[in-house]
Amino acid sequence: HAKALGRNRYCHFAPAMLEAVGERLQMGNDLRAAITAGQLQVHYQPVVELASGRIVGAEALVRWHHASRGWVSPARFIPVAEELGLINAIGERVFREAAGTALTLHRCAGLEAFQISVNVSPRQFVTPDALEGWLEHMRAIGLPGRCIAIEITEGLLLDERPEVARRLLEFRNADVEILLDDFGTGYSSMAYLKRFDIDSLKIDQSFVADMAGNGSDRAIVEAMIAMSRKLGLYVVAEGIETEAQRKVLCEAGCDFGQGYLFSAPVPRQRLLDMMRRPANGSER
Ligand code: C2E
Ligand code: MG
Ligand code: MG
Ligand code: MG
Repeated sequence: HAKALGRNRYCHFAPAMLEAVGERLQMGNDLRAAITAGQLQVHYQPVVELASGRIVGAEALVRWHHASRGWVSPARFIPVAEELGLINAIGERVFREAAGTALTLHRCAGLEAFQISVNVSPRQFVTPDALEGWLEHMRAIGLPGRCIAIEITEGLLLDERPEVARRLLEFRNADVEILLDDFGTGYSSMAYLKRFDIDSLKIDQSFVADMAGNGSDRAIVEAMIAMSRKLGLYVVAEGIETEAQRKVLCEAGCDFGQGYLFSAPVPRQRLLDMMRRPANGSER
């Protein structure tokens, strides 16, 4: 019986699996072509100070518009890029673009401290040369370290290869803040936060989403914020969609947030327009 079931399962499984493999291959090829053709774009999602609504920075998020598929989510193509070794090329492109935008804003009166954060995959930390040029590039264009932050994930903190700690330290020494993205979804503990000198935590949007209706998620979020404050870390909450969520987070002592309530990720020019608008900085 088991054998029959196994064979049956095999028959059902194989075409789907082949399809998935083919799909990934196709996506990989298209992605490679898009990188070469310079077709990846970067959008920016504003990060606001929750108490005032003032925009203090933005997260750079890669965007890919595919000729026939339309917009492809980075949640789908980033893992493919990591697998195929394309993530360094993408990361480099996003960083250059983000640094240019940060420089433009840095030169605007009153926006010298504006910070743009860039997501960095674990792979980029262990590939020789992948991150080497970043600090050099910032120095070359005259962009202070504090205008850029990098977003890493909890898994990276478990990687004990010496180059990981060394690169994190190089960024820190250059005033580039280190943010721990999607906090709460991985395996790391508070002990790692101390060991690596993280500046801020980004509370994953899944906790924020369920906070209003779910007492235990609210308790988790409140505990994360309380612990972070005791450790001297800033807290950024992700995926804030409602005023009720903003209020709870604010009352719990969360400093910053991002989400559709404030703004979706927007193209570079739209971000620049938002920041130059005199209305920015007014109390909400
Ligand atoms: P992330 O770094 O956690 O980015 C936050 C994601 O939440 C973004 O999805 C953003 O568009 C989305 N988001 C923002 N506000 C809201 C909200 O109010 N509600 C909901 N439901 N979602 C919201 P996006 O742009 O699709 O990116 C997905 C993930 O792909 C990112 O998660 C990040 O892990 C990865 N990613 C994006 N760009 C890059 C990149 O340049 N390099 C690397 N390595 N990864 C990237
Ligand atoms: Mg992020
Ligand atoms: Mg995140
Ligand atoms: Mg996320």
